[in-house]
Amino acid sequence: MHRAEMARRLGISRTTITTITRDLMERGVLVELSERADGGDEIDGRAGDQLAFHPMAGWIAGMSQVLDRICVRITDLTGHEVSSAEGPIGAKDEWQLRAEAAVYLLDRALKEGGGDRSDLLGVGIGLPGQINPVDGIVHGALADQPWHGINARQEMNRRLELPVFIENNVRLEAIAEAKWGAGQGIRDLMYVSMSSGIAAGFLFGGELYRGSVGGAGELGHVSIDVNGAACRCGNRGCLVLVAGAPAILSRLEATLGPSATMNDVLAANAAGDRPAQNVLAEAGSTVGRLLASMCNLLNPQRIVVGGQTSLAGAVVLDPLRESIIRYALTPSAALEVVASDLGGGPEAGAAGGAALALSKLTSSPEMLARLLQGSRAQ
Ligand SMILES: [Zn+2]
Repeated sequence: MHRAEMARRLGISRTTITTITRDLMERGVLVELSERADGGDEIDGRAGDQLAFHPMAGWIAGMSQVLDRICVRITDLTGHEVSSAEGPIGAKDEWQLRAEAAVYLLDRALKEGGGDRSDLLGVGIGLPGQINPVDGIVHGALADQPWHGINARQEMNRRLELPVFIENNVRLEAIAEAKWGAGQGIRDLMYVSMSSGIAAGFLFGGELYRGSVGGAGELGHVSIDVNGAACRCGNRGCLVLVAGAPAILSRLEATLGPSATMNDVLAANAAGDRPAQNVLAEAGSTVGRLLASMCNLLNPQRIVVGGQTSLAGAVVLDPLRESIIRYALTPSAALEVVASDLGGGPEAGAAGGAALALSKLTSSPEMLARLLQGSRAQ
């Protein structure tokens, strides 16, 4: 923003804003855009007196955890990665252990970047489940998950003593894809993660749509067959029972063996294994049929598909796209279906966590207070 615009918005004189911004520049909080070393696209040669936060005035952290893995990413204030860390976690490990592991990985990434928690302005954290945006409590249909009923925001805030923002992990992947990946510049975007679970993130008008209690996007437990198998959510014939990774693995048990992983399925697909290709194609086709209904209801401009199953590429994406063309109404079916750039998973979720926390910087008094306490760029 230009100084004149700041003075106008704050209702103070140009002289006063010059004094204040000079002080903030000396303290390494603000920088003139023309001085930015990263060559950000805001520099157009005439932006000389436009001010921005100094990229290194503070750091932002994002982290995301799934059943068996936790990823952390530290970024500067332009979103560029400073460092990252990741580690495995037991699928049955309790919340306390998971929270401690997350804090350990965060501190390790900070140390690797040459800093510590005092450099962080805020943290965006992704967890599977439906996160109520008002109270920060993790809900969800699956009461056996280790984070069910936990007030994750309060818990992580107490451990880290930092501003914490909690969001569903797939919703964070959607945010990351919109900011840095295959969804850039798209106003009405649907991101779908095909992995152990199947879930979506909706960005309408560029903003994440959470729903009233954070439940928007739970595609995996939409029933597609009333006579189908019983799901642990209490429903029957859920999409995840047909197209989730465990379902794919169980259908390929005869050819790939009982201990095969999705990596084995992807390798079999790449090697031209017909059973693997057929099962993957059917998963894509089934998900596409449900997405066709979503297209009729919500009419997105682009669907980005991520998650481990989507890494199989055309064998999944082509049938998914064909299903949409076949089952959605003509105008809604005219959309792009593309593979994610970031691959989905907790790495992308961690990037989305950083993007989420970064987006809160100008509206969070706690983050701004930390920014003014001391800049890394001083
Ligand atoms: Zn279910």
